[in-house]
Parts: sequence; C-alpha cells; structure tokens
Amino acid sequence: MSEKRTEIGDLGEFGLIDHIKERVKLSQKSTLKGIGDDTAVIDAGDHVKVVSTDLLLEGVHFDLSYAPLPHVGFKAVAVNVSDIASMNAVPTQITVSIALSNRFSVEAVDALYEGIYAACEHYGVDLVGGDTTASRSGLVISVTAIGEVDKDKVVYRDGAKMNDILCVTGDLGGALVGLQILEREKQVFLANPDMKPELDKYTLVTGRQLKPDARMDIIHELKELGVVPTSMIDVSDGLASEIFHICKGSKVGATIYEDKLPIDKQTFDTAVELNLDPITCVLNGGEDYELLFTISQEDFKKVEKHPDIHFIGHMTKPEEGKFLVTKSGTAVKIKAQGWQHFD
Ligand code: ADP
Ligand code: MG
Repeated sequence: MSEKRTEIGDLGEFGLIDHIKERVKLSQKSTLKGIGDDTAVIDAGDHVKVVSTDLLLEGVHFDLSYAPLPHVGFKAVAVNVSDIASMNAVPTQITVSIALSNRFSVEAVDALYEGIYAACEHYGVDLVGGDTTASRSGLVISVTAIGEVDKDKVVYRDGAKMNDILCVTGDLGGALVGLQILEREKQVFLANPDMKPELDKYTLVTGRQLKPDARMDIIHELKELGVVPTSMIDVSDGLASEIFHICKGSKVGATIYEDKLPIDKQTFDTAVELNLDPITCVLNGGEDYELLFTISQEDFKKVEKHPDIHFIGHMTKPEEGKFLVTKSGTAVKIKAQGWQHFD
C-alpha cells in the first residue's frame, strides 16, 4: 500500500503555513491574533503584547565564510525586532536559543553574543532566556522577541483601505545585491585563495546583507507625528511579496509607480554590474527589513516631508489587481516571487 506523499515544494512556504494554520484551534480569550501576521498579538489588559520568532540556520540563512559571528548575532535579533516594529510596537525582551556543533569554541560563542548584546543595547531590549543544545550540522540560532503597544495603536496587515497611500521606508534591493557580491567574492576566493576579496566599493550593499537595522526609528517618529498606519508589514521577502500580503489581508488592490521606488545609487550600479535588473532587485530582493505601510489620505500632510518615507503608490479596489506603472506609463502586473525556500 502506498501512502500519499505531498512535496512541501508543491505548497511553498506560505502554503505550508496556511496548511498548518487550518487545523489550529484558538481557545484563549487573550489570543487576539494567532498565525498570519508578523507577530502574534496577546491581550495584556490596557495594552497588547506582541511575539515574533525566527530561526536562522548556517548554510541556509548565513554563511560563516563571509558573515562575521557578531553580525550573525546582531542580525538574528534585528530581524525579530523588525517584525515587532511592523506591528507598530516597541520591543522589550528577547530569548535566544542556539545549537552548536563541536566546530565552535567558547570564543566563537562569545563573538556571536557580542552581536546579540550590541543589538540588545541598540534596541533597548533585555535578554531574558533561551536554550542551548548540540547540533550535528553547524550553528542554528533562534530568537523570540516580545514587544508591547497600546491596544488601539497595534497595526495589522489587514487594515488597508481603498485610496490609502502606500509608503515604504529607506531603500530597497541592497541586501540582495550585497548577497550576490559576497557570493561572487567567495567563489573567487575558493578558486584562488591568494586573491583578496575586493569588497571596498560595496560596503553599503554588503552591510545591508550582513548587518540590517530594524526601523524602530520610524515607529518612534510616526508616533511623534501622530500617525497610526492603517496596515503595516516589514520587507523581509521582497516588496512584491509584502504588497501581496497586505492586499490579501486587507482585500484591496494596489498600484505602484516605478519612478517612486527607492533604490540607492550603489545598489543600482552594483545590480547593473551583476547583470541584474535594478527594479527586479527592488521588487523581489529579500531581507531589506524596511517597513511597508499604508496611511489614510488625511495623514499624508503629517508625513509628507519625512526624508526617509517614500510614497510609492496607492491602494485600489481588489478587482483592479496589483500593478506597477513603468516609467514609460505601461501598467505591468506585479508577480510575488519572494524567496522560494523549498524549490
Ligand atoms: P515573517 O516573514 O514576518 O517572519 P513568516 O512568513 O515567517 O513571517 O510567518 C508568517 C506567519 O506564520 C507568522 O504568523 C508566523 O508566526 C507563522 N508561522 C510560520 N511558521 C509557522 C509554524 N511552523 N507553525 C505555526 N506558525 C507558523
Ligand atoms: Mg515580517
């Protein structure tokens, strides 16, 4: 008798998460949001607690031949803080779990924690626990971050309304381009270990890949400006994929404009050098950890002059779909590629 076997690749990462979610039954009154947003949301009386967790594996999420251990530690915290930020919340505590093979020394663990402690200080969070175990294949690191926000200020993926303005912080595509450069220089080094990697002219993009910074600054500034986004998500899988999440959650469409998409000059030039289309890098590059959010038209005046918030488009009726208007004025359907981990 042959048992049915479904390949994980047939579902993809998001399909698999939906599949798991289907059988989850929530029974606690305090669970305000379970699977399906950047964090879970838990009722804590006058405010809510938000919880996010991420798992990073050596060889899948980072490569120690070019990622220094302190950077890996910092990034493991920053990617979780980014999820906390995307709920309009402020991080308060983290737990850190590690699995190590005997390839790692105490000094290596110290180097990893140097980055974790630096991130704790940078984001003002306390390291309050975790777990330590042996691994057969390299380093595994999992961080859980806890944060809090006033009940009426928590922002989900599902609140965007038609005509809301779509905003993104910073610039996009840098982390993907940085990764391509690091991979290229690794191959050069493997082919000829006497060659020194030429990384000096790529420090911005490699920095975006190796040591991303969660945009807590934006969360504090939005608060000062008196703006609560109608929906928000962090850009971890690529702009196109995140737009799909907001549109699906909020049941709206979106139109974005190519000439409004923020890209740094070094990202643009390096993409061209690598024979990559810069706009594809902006749309589908992952790991930028910028914030993508929508605001109501009335709030536009309050953020209009912010130097690091870009207004890239607006939300439409769901049946209008998701489109990119190119510089020449053609509307092209947006495809959400993101990272296909299981391909
Ligand atoms: P992000 O990219 O923002 O970190 P993910 O795409 O990893 O978010 O996850 C989307 C949602 O699915 C989140 O609510 C997350 O907690 C949930 N999730 C992911 N993997 C699992 C799992 N194995 N079991 C239960 N929930 C999961
Ligand atoms: Mg996220």
